Amino acid sequence: MNKTNNIAQCDWKECSNLIKFSCSVCKDVQYCSKECQKLDWNTPINPHKKICKSLKLKKEAYERKLIEELRQNYMTELSNYSDQNLVGRLVRPTLESIISDIDIFLEKEII
Ligand SMILES: [Zn+2]
Ligand SMILES: [Zn+2]
Repeated sequence: MNKTNNIAQCDWKECSNLIKFSCSVCKDVQYCSKECQKLDWNTPINPHKKICKSLKLKKEAYERKLIEELRQNYMTELSNYSDQNLVGRLVRPTLESIISDIDIFLEKEII
């Protein structure tokens, strides 16, 4: 089977139909039908069931790292503004509310 690198194609190796949905767990592979998803899940060679969970975890760890970096950037930014002047008093509440949203998100993610 000669598959092109077209992302709109079903990820089951023997199918070249257009994709209709993604794997609901990892969202990393896409299929045209539930039948193709099932075939790919149970195929003897590189079954998707073996990598699905780790793809998901890898993606979540990556996103978490990005969000933590973002939080660090906002913290640095916040430290640049003193609450002793007008600009600082205007900017700090916005930054603080973003940081607290990020914290809520990060806490939710830790299970
Ligand atoms: Zn297919
Ligand atoms: Zn998956």
